[in-house]
Amino acid sequence: MRVLEIASEAVPFAKTGGLADVAGALPGALADLGCEVALVMPGHRDAYAKGLPIESTGIEFEVPVGTRRPVARILRCRVPGSGCDAYLVANDEFFDRPTLYGGSSDYPDNAERFIFFSRAALELACRLGGPWDILHCHDWQTGLVPAYRALEYASHPAVASARTVMTIHNMAYQGLFWHWDMLLTGIDWKHFTWREMEFYGQLNLLKTGLVFADAISTVSPTYAREIQSSPGGCGLEGLLSARRGVLTGIVNGIDTRVWNPATDPHLPRPYGEADVEAGKYAARAALAARFGHAAPDARPLVAFVGRLVEQKGIELVLEVLGRMAAAGRAHFVILGTGSGEYEELLQRAALMFPGTVDLAIGFDEGLAHLVQAAADITLVPSLFEPCGLTQLYAQRYGSIPVVRATGGLVDTVVDATPETIRDHSATGFVFQGFDAAGLEHALARAMTAHADRPLWNGLVGNAMRQDWSWRSSGRDYLQLFERTRAS
Ligand code: ADP
Repeated sequence: MRVLEIASEAVPFAKTGGLADVAGALPGALADLGCEVALVMPGHRDAYAKGLPIESTGIEFEVPVGTRRPVARILRCRVPGSGCDAYLVANDEFFDRPTLYGGSSDYPDNAERFIFFSRAALELACRLGGPWDILHCHDWQTGLVPAYRALEYASHPAVASARTVMTIHNMAYQGLFWHWDMLLTGIDWKHFTWREMEFYGQLNLLKTGLVFADAISTVSPTYAREIQSSPGGCGLEGLLSARRGVLTGIVNGIDTRVWNPATDPHLPRPYGEADVEAGKYAARAALAARFGHAAPDARPLVAFVGRLVEQKGIELVLEVLGRMAAAGRAHFVILGTGSGEYEELLQRAALMFPGTVDLAIGFDEGLAHLVQAAADITLVPSLFEPCGLTQLYAQRYGSIPVVRATGGLVDTVVDATPETIRDHSATGFVFQGFDAAGLEHALARAMTAHADRPLWNGLVGNAMRQDWSWRSSGRDYLQLFERTRAS
């Protein structure tokens, strides 16, 4: 099975969220199962700052984008630890930028950038030589790949028999652009209809991918169901429900080489289930020092790590934080970056409760590891959550997740009830409605459990023993690819 993974970000080259974790780890997981896999992504500026052994391939070609023909220079690097090749599509005009997609607002030429990338990825697939079995596309940035394969490259021997799989990591981001950007795609206007590429007058790149792909997947079975109706489908529920025969949900794995408390270089003292208390104590001491405290706090440590956007339930966190910090029952650590408004409100909370609320604004991979290791409880109160990785990392690091019952959180966290505690399946605390009262109640349940050492140790053991590695998710993807190839 020859698979080309096509994504706009991948660890360790460039990352803004969970997509990068998936695109960085899946090639290795598929290779372990006997697939021949390569990855294609844009040559973002970030990719060159990591000291990775990136080399030129000498492959260079022009890519038609509207009336222009910008040049794609192809660089290559091994995906560390996997033996797979990663190809970086370099073009300084498009990708030599400080951030991947823009700052507080998107880059105005994002349509042009990812039309260029999608077309370049397909052209590269042809130049690398075929035949490819599967072109695996991720999110709106690659939504044009299935369309180009079907409309422009259908007779090219390298990809003529290739099947396209479109994976949705988040329905909320669809790549919506004004209709004149259709001219940049080079695709005939006849495809600009509500049945294919048009969405309420705009060009919709995710929709395009979902229409033209041979198979669709998303990152958890619950999210696969949720997106077939409103509001989960974000306007595309009709299309997704019509295509439900080829729609699958596969929970993301985690990269256990990167996220393993026993070998994690970001921790002062690596640990496993047997010495979790000592490992967590050392992590808390390091975290306390980092925030300028003389000693670690004895109160339960409640953490939040994630993007500061509405989806992640920051409003609920702020409300509960205010009440619980005032009562002094827990110590909070928040690591995130995102909307200026949320950053400011959190900064205010941190100033109001010094010594109880620690806040780090910014994206800091090492600190994210340390926080998970130090935390007793990790909050994931999302409004919606396609899969979510934070709760998986938390479990592996012995931090008990408190999550809202949505998307992948439903599929990966088992609520602690008398029954699930008895049968050792409990791994966290789950609440239903998207409101602060629900989060507060679930957090209170977690804090009560935390005070009962044998019960808590049991929960931590259950959580740490969960296998969220890519082994089983990789097998599910392989089955999906085999089914799709045979279709
Ligand atoms: P999403 O992809 O919606 O952002 P996920 O839970 O799937 O959410 O993945 C988020 C990933 O990004 C996790 O690896 C998490 O640890 C990481 N992350 C989010 N915010 C930060 C931050 N400020 N610093 C470091 N890592 C972060």
